[in-house]
Amino acid sequence: MLCGLCGRKMQSHQAHGAAYYRCRYPNEYALANHVQHPRNVYVAERDIVPALDNWLLKAFAPPPHRLTDTIRRLHAAQPEAGPSTVAPEIATVNKIIAACDAKLVQ
Ligand SMILES: [Zn+2]
Repeated sequence: MLCGLCGRKMQSHQAHGAAYYRCRYPNEYALANHVQHPRNVYVAERDIVPALDNWLLKAFAPPPHRLTDTIRRLHAAQPEAGPSTVAPEIATVNKIIAACDAKLVQ
């Protein structure tokens, strides 16, 4: 989660049994960078979760909605990986899936 004032990554923070995101921005940095920023900015996780849930529901809505586009975007955002970077567990699972696919074809 990024701070809307300075664009930096916010840190997780626990207080009074609740989860928060916090951005600490020292006054010296704010003055040097000409940024209007309180020393601390807090956002309660409970205030964000409903909006995030709604966004996820839309992003992963089954076809014909946005699911296919979301999967395409997630795939495109992944770094290029060659076959040598596949974890051994994934290679084993891929072999099992290929064997099952071959049985289904027969
Ligand atoms: Zn900030």
